[in-house]
Amino acid sequence: MNISETACRSILTRTTGYLKTVCSHSMNPYTGCGLGRSACGVACYVRFNPWLTRGREWGGFVDVKINAPDVYLQTAEVERRWARRRAQPFSIFLASSTEPWQPLEKKYRVTRGLLDAMHSAPPDEVILQTHTTGIRDDLDRVQALSRKCRLRVQVSIEGDVERLPGMPPPPAALDDRIQLLRELSEAGIDTVACLAPLYPITDAHAFFERLSKTGIVAVVIDHFIEGDGTADGARTLKTALPAAMQAVNPDSLHVAYRDTLAAIAKQYLPVGVSAAGFAGRYDSVIHVAP
Ligand code: SF4
Repeated sequence: MNISETACRSILTRTTGYLKTVCSHSMNPYTGCGLGRSACGVACYVRFNPWLTRGREWGGFVDVKINAPDVYLQTAEVERRWARRRAQPFSIFLASSTEPWQPLEKKYRVTRGLLDAMHSAPPDEVILQTHTTGIRDDLDRVQALSRKCRLRVQVSIEGDVERLPGMPPPPAALDDRIQLLRELSEAGIDTVACLAPLYPITDAHAFFERLSKTGIVAVVIDHFIEGDGTADGARTLKTALPAAMQAVNPDSLHVAYRDTLAAIAKQYLPVGVSAAGFAGRYDSVIHVAP
């Protein structure tokens, strides 16, 4: 792993593309991801961003933005005013192109520094997106920040299969991530399970019922088609993920699978589909007569 400590000039990035419908800014404490060689890294859409990778192998490098908390504090008010001028809330997605609680966070604590900085100068809203369970180390900080602004934690849980055939292991075990949903919810934090990208699910009713019992507020369901930054899933189709999905359930390769799963999920939990779900817009539970 090639690790560099870098001084960033900015940390609050004004959003473009689909993220613009979700929040006003994204914030990435690292460039690259130490979990890039795990299952989620196989089709991670960031690996296709040459501006970020600069020719480096995804999962083989991390640039640590060691001054990120200071830069946040220096620029938060300017960016808050920028959002206000557009009649938008100052809303931050942490993180859109890296994992905030990747292994190096235990050493560098850049994400922790950003939580502290946001506590000092709170935005209107924070969305914390994670694929792993290191957020437990910062539970007290996340709780404290949730008392200062709207906050939700989105935990990526793509499906109910621990490991798809031919794929590397996930960044954290499925059971551990489901336990994390429970712990966050019990701590009073709005918590969402993100099935993104949606993997094949072997027992949808049992899975969504299990998720609903953790206390989460919603699930987000996003298929790689329409969800990987291309209209037809072209980026993901170049990776090993589609073959692994096909081996479990060929239907899961089609975007209609997303809608089938969303219809089942709605019997248990509020459901947000694709970008609307990431933005926190959910359809209500539909009660089906027994
Ligand atoms: S943890 Fe997130 S940023 Fe890192 S490889 Fe997985 S999907 Fe990509």
